[in-house]
Amino acid sequence: MEPRSLYVHLPFCLHKCSYCDFTVRVLHQSTQIDRYLDHLELELQHIPQRYPLDTLYCGGGTPSLLNTAQFQRLHTLLNQAFDLSQLQEWTFEANPETVTPLLATGWKSAGVHRISLGVQSFDDQELMACGRTHRSEHVKSAVEILTQAGIAQISFDLIYGLPGQTLPTWEHTLEQALLLRPTHLSLYCLEVHNQTAWGYLEQQQRLDLPEDETLAQCYQLAVDHLQAAGYQHYEIANWCRPGYQSAHNLAYWHNVPYLAVGVGAHGYYQNRRYANPSSLTAYYAQCQQGQTAWAEAPPMTLQAEIEETVFLGLRLLDEGLDRAKFAQRFGQTLESVYPQTLPQLIHNGQLIDQGQRLLLHPDAVLTSNEVFSALLEPEGLTPEAAPN
Ligand code: SF4
Repeated sequence: MEPRSLYVHLPFCLHKCSYCDFTVRVLHQSTQIDRYLDHLELELQHIPQRYPLDTLYCGGGTPSLLNTAQFQRLHTLLNQAFDLSQLQEWTFEANPETVTPLLATGWKSAGVHRISLGVQSFDDQELMACGRTHRSEHVKSAVEILTQAGIAQISFDLIYGLPGQTLPTWEHTLEQALLLRPTHLSLYCLEVHNQTAWGYLEQQQRLDLPEDETLAQCYQLAVDHLQAAGYQHYEIANWCRPGYQSAHNLAYWHNVPYLAVGVGAHGYYQNRRYANPSSLTAYYAQCQQGQTAWAEAPPMTLQAEIEETVFLGLRLLDEGLDRAKFAQRFGQTLESVYPQTLPQLIHNGQLIDQGQRLLLHPDAVLTSNEVFSALLEPEGLTPEAAPN
């Protein structure tokens, strides 16, 4: 199957947030971006075909740090490397404080459909603790600017489980977010990684993190508020107004091939999962030497491909796993791959059998890792079955 989606990583940020473990470099001067685009151009020249794209996602980092000329150059490079004439969804990530009328107008006229805003919280104390460079007022003005520029699809990222966050402050964040009626919301539970400022504090037991019970209450509060506001809970961590699912992320959850370019970017191409180097020096060397990470990556095993298809598909709470599509892709049925585990999970009430589809039970969402662990190592796998 040929890729119909592209992820582009733009790694520069004004400041590194306390919890961030993404591939990010602090921007000191705009020429860093020019140099990065020079190398992106080299990488794009090694994509073997000018594939037509359905979805394009520019993430980071803070892609909205590209000035108008840099954004136009990026657009030109992407247009040369890919056929964008059938593009259904182009998402561009932005941090609220960086959105200006000039940039928004440029995004709109280039064909950007959707802006994903790194909102995280509407509590300014929490934003400061996170090391964010925006405040809640910036979110409101960013939404106004985007709307005036004619960009109707706006997604918010929010985080719960922050140090010092309480149920009332989380509820305040949800309420403020809903007042702005974004078309989409992604809600993340904070993960503290070792190589971050908060990871360092946690190792010294100096980080005041909420208890697991509070996290579960935060999640449930979100489920209730968003449902009452008419949002569809279509994926474990994602909600949308009807019809506004993220088409790009659906490609990930359907486990279909996609290309990814840029430092540290991860793709799935020619049945290989690949990752570009996460160091800029190594990434630049790879681009200059005309090498590609996907050519070096080992092909996926059938078992890994099946497991990923099952885990990712079950994350889609309305759509779930389609039995017929699974059988068509793998040449064996879900039941034959999991002859004992599937009936057991259905019997336990963790999975719902809807005939054509298999769904994660809403009550099992918070403990979905248990379901996914049970589905590791399919007991009925026929090793000789064709991978595609
Ligand atoms: S803005 Fe996002 S990508 Fe940049 S440092 Fe903060 S969390 Fe990381």
